[in-house]
Amino acid sequence: MTKEIICTVCPTGCTIHVEGENGNITKIEGFSCPRGKVYAENEFTAPVRILTSTAKIKNAKTPLVAVRSKTPVPKEKLFDCMVEIRKLELTPPVNRGDVLIKNICDTGVDIIASGEVK
Ligand code: SF4
Repeated sequence: MTKEIICTVCPTGCTIHVEGENGNITKIEGFSCPRGKVYAENEFTAPVRILTSTAKIKNAKTPLVAVRSKTPVPKEKLFDCMVEIRKLELTPPVNRGDVLIKNICDTGVDIIASGEVK
């Protein structure tokens, strides 16, 4: 398998070419610094993303509050995590940084409020 990965670590946006099978990298080229190499290796073997979304609020003027994962979530678990977030029905007050779901979908990652509702 080969993959062209655009590095997003800095604004340069190097295109990094990665080859490998079953998570084993056999060739990697196109990075301009060690940070880019690490980024591309992770993107190839275990891509992760910060998840951002909204959650429902009961009995408030504002019906939704912004939420996000505290740390990146494995990309293949994003959909399952969204399903869990959709089930939330929060009661005010919700404060920025409140943990809303601990260890979502056994990822070891917490979902926190990134907005506030008083
Ligand atoms: S490889 Fe290095 S220089 Fe290139 S985009 Fe990534 S961080 Fe920036």
